[in-house]
Amino acid sequence: MLQQTQVKTVIPYFNNFTKKFKNLTALSRSNEKQILKMWEGLGYYRRAKNLLACSKILVKIYKSKLPQSINEIKKLPGVGDYTANALLGLVYNKPRIALDGNVKRIFSRNLNIEENKINFDKLIEKNKKKLLITARNADFVEALMEFGALVCKPKDPNCINCCLNKTCKYFKSNNKIKRIKYKMIKNKNYDIFCFINKKKQIALQKNSQIGFLKDFNLPKIQESNNFSKKQNWKFLKTYKNSISNLRLNINLYYKFSEKIPPKFSWFSLEKNKEFIPSFTKQIFRQVSTLF
Ligand code: SF4
Repeated sequence: MLQQTQVKTVIPYFNNFTKKFKNLTALSRSNEKQILKMWEGLGYYRRAKNLLACSKILVKIYKSKLPQSINEIKKLPGVGDYTANALLGLVYNKPRIALDGNVKRIFSRNLNIEENKINFDKLIEKNKKKLLITARNADFVEALMEFGALVCKPKDPNCINCCLNKTCKYFKSNNKIKRIKYKMIKNKNYDIFCFINKKKQIALQKNSQIGFLKDFNLPKIQESNNFSKKQNWKFLKTYKNSISNLRLNINLYYKFSEKIPPKFSWFSLEKNKEFIPSFTKQIFRQVSTLF
C-alpha cells in the first residue's frame, strides 16, 4: 500500500484491510471485486490485484509461508528486487539491503557521488562485510528506510544532528552533489465526454482491466491541444487531476440522454457497491455539481 503513497493516506486503508482480512488464508479466499472496492481511492490498483494473487499462491503452493530464496520470492506477482530483499530482511532477519530511492540517496550522499554514477549492486557486494554487521537485520532494513525518510531527507537533510556526519562526504564537501529529479512532470490536456440522465446516473462501460485512459470506461476520451466548443456536447468545466507523473487538464463535456451505447450501463453518481477508480470518481464529483 505504501508504494508511491504517503503513510497518512494509507493508515485508514491498512486498518480496514487488516480488520477484514486477519490472515493470509482469509485474504486468499477473497476476490478482486472485494479487494478493489476496499482499495478504492488509494490508486495504483495493480498493487491490490498483485497482493491478492500473491496470497493465493502463498497459501496454495507454499503452505502460507514466504519462500526463503530470493528467486522464489521474485516469482510472486509484483515482487521485484526491492520488495524481495525487504521481505527477506524483515521476515527472516536475513542480512539484506532493500534498495529504494531513500536508501540510494543515503549512499549517494555519504559518498558525495551522484546516484546515476553508482553501481549499487557492486557497491553493496564490495562493502557487505562493513555494511551488514548486525544480527538485527530486520531492524536494519527498517532503520535505513526511516533514516532516509527522517534524517537524510530528500530536501534539507538534518546533517547537524546526523550520526553519520563525521564520515559523510556530502556533509564535509564544499562541492555537494545536487539532487536528481527523476520524475519529469508532463502536462496533458484531455477532453472527456459523458452521458448522464435525470436520475443522477452516468453511463460507464465496465472493463476487466484497471488503468487510466487505455482501459478507461467513458463513452469518449481524447487528448486535445486546445479547448474548443464541441458539437452536440455541453461544456461543464475544466479541472486538474494528477496521475503518477502526468498533470492533466480535463475538459469535461456532458449530454443528458436516455439512450446509451451498447455495453454501457448506468451507474449512480452518489453511491456504488462497485469499485470505482479515483480518476472516475473525480468525474462523478464534477458531474454531480449539475444537480
Ligand atoms: S550527514 Fe547529512 S547527508 Fe550525510 S548521511 Fe547524514 S543527513 Fe545524510
